[in-house]
Amino acid sequence: MADADETYECPECGDTFDSIRGMHVHEGQVHPDRRVEDLQELVDNFEEDANKAVMIKRERDRLKQRLKQLTDEKEELEDTVSDLKSTRRELKNAIEEKQNDVQNLRDKLNNLKDEKEEVAAEKQSLERELDAVQEEKERMNKSLKQTENLLLKFKHQVDELDADLN
Ligand SMILES: [Zn+2]
Repeated sequence: MADADETYECPECGDTFDSIRGMHVHEGQVHPDRRVEDLQELVDNFEEDANKAVMIKRERDRLKQRLKQLTDEKEELEDTVSDLKSTRRELKNAIEEKQNDVQNLRDKLNNLKDEKEEVAAEKQSLERELDAVQEEKERMNKSLKQTENLLLKFKHQVDELDADLN
C-alpha cells in the first residue's frame, strides 16, 4: 500500500500530509490537547480492557463454581440412585421371602386337607366296621336267646324226667 499519492488527513482540522509522521508532528504542534485526548483514550481503552479481563475472569470463576456445584449435585444424585437401588433390592428380597412364606402356608394347608380327607375316610371305614360289629352282636344276641330258650326247654324236660323218676 505504499502509494505515492496517499495522503494523511488530520482528524482535528482536515489538513492533509504526505506522511503519517508529518501529520503526527502537526498534531503535536497545532493540536497538543488532541494528543492528550488520544493518550487519555488509550488509558481509558486500557482500563476498559482490564475491566473486561476482570469480568471474564469473574465469569470463568463463576462457571468453575457452577461446574463444581453441578458435579456435587451429580454425585449426590448418584448416591441417591445407589440408595434407591439397594432399597429396591431389599424390597425384592422381602417380597421373595413373603412369597416363600405364602408357598409354605399353601403346602401346609394342602397337607392338612389331605390329612382331613384321610381322617374322614378312616372314620367312614370305622363306622362301617362298627355297623358290622353291631350286626354281629345282634346276631349273637339272637343266638344267645335261642340257646337260652333251648336250655330252658331241656331244663324243663330234665325236671319232668326227675319227677317221673322220683
Ligand atoms: Zn490539524
